[in-house]
Amino acid sequence: MYKKKIRIILFILLILTINHDNQKREFYQNITPIKNPNSNLVLVNKFHYLPSNYIPYDLEKIDVKYANDHKYVRKEVKNAFEQLSHEAKQDGYQIIAVSTFRSYRYQKNLYQYYVKEKGKKYADNCSARPGHSEHQTGLSIDVMGENMDYDRFEDSNAFTWMKRHAHEYGFILRYPSGKEHITGFKYEPWHYRYVGKEAATTIYEKQLTLEEYLHKK
Ligand SMILES: [Zn+2]
Repeated sequence: MYKKKIRIILFILLILTINHDNQKREFYQNITPIKNPNSNLVLVNKFHYLPSNYIPYDLEKIDVKYANDHKYVRKEVKNAFEQLSHEAKQDGYQIIAVSTFRSYRYQKNLYQYYVKEKGKKYADNCSARPGHSEHQTGLSIDVMGENMDYDRFEDSNAFTWMKRHAHEYGFILRYPSGKEHITGFKYEPWHYRYVGKEAATTIYEKQLTLEEYLHKK
């Protein structure tokens, strides 16, 4: 009798745990400040935010051969991206950085512009709130290919090359299709995030998001 009761209690606890895990977290609810902003594996999303005064200490300009203007990323990212873009070129593909480091202030204006023009729901779908953008880390790059339109990067041959090779240089496709409920962002074929070769290779091979990769670690 006693054992049976314990078994029932354990069963109830199990159900409660499963339900808890399945509960969908509301984006931008219970947000926490980021403690490791300088790490290559920093997680910036709709639950984790960077301080408004955070600027990476080692920003460097990408060689203008590989960018559409003066574009800044962290030193390690610059070297990796220039190598990636150079090797893509050797293979006959053009990969150009369009948007890289963005300050808190820049992101604030960008987000507020979308809210004003299209409403909050639209803004939250296509843009990050200030502090919640990966572009503030200096680790993210939006790219364009030979069609010179980042919005249509998926249609370019450069996209096919990136899909196969980005991880070899430490980059991941940060917002894949079908993972919107995890990343909080719609599919963005143009947005790449530097995480280093080791993490990028695992994420690529196991088809994970950065959220899933860090959760497993
Ligand atoms: Zn982006």
